[in-house]
Amino acid sequence: MNNHQSGFLKVQNQNPEETLRQVFAGWLREHKLTAILAPALSSAGSATLALVSEPERLASVLPLLPAMAVNAASVVHEIAGGSGAGETVGLLLRPCELRAVVELVKLRQILTDSLVLIGIDCPGTYRAAGFRELRRDDADFDNKHVRNQQEYVSNVNFRTACQMCEFAKPLTFDLCIGWLGMDPDKELFLEAATEKGKGLLENLELSVAAEPETRKQYLTEHARKRQEQTRERIEQMDKQIMGVENLVRYFADCLNCHNCMKVCPVCYCHECFFDSDTFKRDLDEHVRASRRKGLSRMPSETMLFHLTRMNHMMTSCVACGICEDSCPVTIGLATLFKKVSQNAQQEFDYLAGRSLEEPLPLTTFREDEFKKVGEE
Ligand code: SF4
Ligand code: SF4
Ligand code: SF4
Repeated sequence: MNNHQSGFLKVQNQNPEETLRQVFAGWLREHKLTAILAPALSSAGSATLALVSEPERLASVLPLLPAMAVNAASVVHEIAGGSGAGETVGLLLRPCELRAVVELVKLRQILTDSLVLIGIDCPGTYRAAGFRELRRDDADFDNKHVRNQQEYVSNVNFRTACQMCEFAKPLTFDLCIGWLGMDPDKELFLEAATEKGKGLLENLELSVAAEPETRKQYLTEHARKRQEQTRERIEQMDKQIMGVENLVRYFADCLNCHNCMKVCPVCYCHECFFDSDTFKRDLDEHVRASRRKGLSRMPSETMLFHLTRMNHMMTSCVACGICEDSCPVTIGLATLFKKVSQNAQQEFDYLAGRSLEEPLPLTTFREDEFKKVGEE
C-alpha cells in the first residue's frame, strides 16, 4: 500500500498541452512555484528547455515535447548545486532525466530543498538535430505523436536509447503526470508521492482515483517489448565488440573530442582527470610512445578515455543516450552504455535513479559480493 494521492484531471478542449500550461500558470500565480523548468520550443522551433517564472510566458512550453537536446539533469546540476533560498522551482522531467537528478542528489551534486520533482511520462524522443524540420513538415506531428500510442515501440526514428528504454513512467517523483495508456484528449492521471507533490494538487479539480488498470497494462507491455528490443540490440552489438581488437575497431572513428563526457548528466567531476596535466604529453613523450610500436594512433589515449569513463559511469548511468546523440561520428554509445551499466547495476542489485533511499553501490560493502569471480 503506498500513500500516494492521485486522480484524473479533465483535459480542456482536447488539448493536454494547453491544459498543463494552465495548471503550471496556476502554480506560478498561487506562488506554489517561483519558476518551472520545462521542455519548450525556441523561437526558431527547435527543442530546448525554458525556466519560466511569469505565467504569461508559458506559451513556448510543450510538456509532451518528444525531442531532447540535452538531459535536463545537466541543467539542474548547473543551477541547483546551492541552496536557492526562498525559491521553489518545479522541474518537469522525463523519466531518464529524473533518474539522473536522483543520482546527482545521491552524489551530493544537487540539493532538493528548493526543488519539486515533477515527472512526466515519456514513450521516446527524437534527436534534437532535425526535429525542427520534422515537425515543420508535418502539420499534424504533435497530434499524431500524442495519440498514436501503439506505434511508439516500433518507432525506429526515436533516439537509440529511447528504443531500449523500458521506463516510460517516472520511478521517483514528488508529482507524476501520466498520459500513456489513457486518452489524453479527455484526461490526465496525476499522482503525488510526497507532501511537496500533494501541495501542488491542492486547488486542482481532480476526480480522485487509483491508477487505471488499462494504464498499468499498457506500461507493463511497453516495458516488456522494449526489454525484448534491448536484448536484440545488445546481441547485435556483441557480435561487433567482442575481443579487444573488435572493441578498438568499434571506437576507431573516435575524435577524442570528449563531447560524450561533457553532455553526460552523471559525469559530474568538476575537474576531469582527462583534462588534467596528467594527460598532457610533450613531443618527446609522444615520439617515445610511437617508437615502441613504430606507429601511434593520434589523437592518443582514446581507448583509455572510454574504458575509464565506462568504469566511472556504469553504476550511475541512466541510459539516456545523450552521449551518442552528441557524438560527431555517431559511435554506438547508447547500446554500449546500456549493456555495461545494466550488467554492472544488476550485479549490485541496483538501478540508477530508482530511489533516493537506495545507497550508491560504491559507497556500500557487502561481504558476500562477487564470490563467483573467485574472492572466496
Ligand atoms: S531514454 Fe526513456 S525517458 Fe529518456 S527520453 Fe528516451 S524514452 Fe524518454
Ligand atoms: S553515459 Fe551516456 S547514456 Fe549513460 S547517463 Fe551518461 S550520457 Fe546518459
Ligand atoms: S563524442 Fe564520439 S568522437 Fe567524441 S570522444 Fe566521445 S566517442 Fe569519441
